[in-house]
Amino acid sequence: MDFIPVNEPLLNGNEKKYLCECIDTGWISSEGPFVKEFERKMSSTVGRKYGIAVSNGTAALEVAVQALGIQTGDEVIMPTFTIISCAMAVTKLGAVPVLVDSDISTWNMNVGEIEAKITSKTKAIMIVHLYGLPVEMDKVLELAEQYNLKVIEDAAEMHGQTYKAKPCGSFGNISTFSFYPNKHVTTGEGGMIVTDDEKLAERCRLLRNLCFRHDIRYVHDEISDNYRFTNLQAAVGLAQLERLDEFVERKREMGKYYTEKLRDVEGLVLPIERKDYADNIYWVYGLVLDKDIQVDNRIIQKLLAEKGIGTRTFFWCIHEQPVYRKAGLFLNDVYSNAEYLARKGFYIPSGLALTKKQMARVIEGVRDVMSQIVS
Ligand SMILES: *Cc1c(COP(=O)(O)O)cnc(C)c1O
Repeated sequence: MDFIPVNEPLLNGNEKKYLCECIDTGWISSEGPFVKEFERKMSSTVGRKYGIAVSNGTAALEVAVQALGIQTGDEVIMPTFTIISCAMAVTKLGAVPVLVDSDISTWNMNVGEIEAKITSKTKAIMIVHLYGLPVEMDKVLELAEQYNLKVIEDAAEMHGQTYKAKPCGSFGNISTFSFYPNKHVTTGEGGMIVTDDEKLAERCRLLRNLCFRHDIRYVHDEISDNYRFTNLQAAVGLAQLERLDEFVERKREMGKYYTEKLRDVEGLVLPIERKDYADNIYWVYGLVLDKDIQVDNRIIQKLLAEKGIGTRTFFWCIHEQPVYRKAGLFLNDVYSNAEYLARKGFYIPSGLALTKKQMARVIEGVRDVMSQIVS
């Protein structure tokens, strides 16, 4: 029995052709021509003026937060239910993440909790669109305006998604993407910052590249890392981007199919198909165990693995991260919805290369495992 991996990307477009061009021309470094082309295409896809490609989505967040001038003692409001990269971008600078709980139905941050968390130290709100539906942006943008806060939009999982018909990646001061293989557009590893602010863009380019001074190379007024993105990555990215609409459509079809076939399974909560501001694009197809189910996600995942089905847990909450607790952060924080999602949520195979046959096996496996658990 073949193991069905939780994700497999689709690389059967122009990826090979463009990669061969890199080899044939000798352009494999970050100086190659595909990098600028990919930055231009990606930023214009989401309606932004500038794109700065970096080595991964985590680097994109770090550079974006630093470019905004966040520093020691500043507070940045963000969801607790997200990847560590979001918090790390802030704590690396000595700033403090201030967390909000999740909305239990969309799995996104509960924007109704933001205002109560704003203090005189708050400098920015980092919103993170999770699993396929965007955050309710209107409320966030309103608060940012009212309290004069910056907005960082982590759109890593939202390639091709829109909020009220406006592209994700176009909201706030600065937005970031990841091109990890489980994102709709992949370059293996990779990320991008997009913005309409020329000064911010310039600052990001500097921070991406060791802060080399423009006038004299190898002279540095400040320090940053090397987060450059290669022509090889851009070659794959360009080929992927050509198929974005097709990929989004395919993900939506897959999501609808899973929902149709799993709707009646007892003990499972499925992703919401649509809100009035967006249709789900199913970054991955997540499942959450019902309140009445006594076991945690890991038990179900183990049973599915025995059937040759790969799964992955949802994110682990920022306030429960041992590394932050050890440092004395978030000691009294409780966010019950996020804690619930982290313990009861997981996702099933939903990569773009997944076949109908594999999906049928996943559906059968999930139904079988859940019937064992519920009975
Ligand atoms: C994948 C992801 C990232 C990090 O991207 P990497 O390229 O893996 O560093 C950041 N934020 C969110 C929401 C993600 O899903």
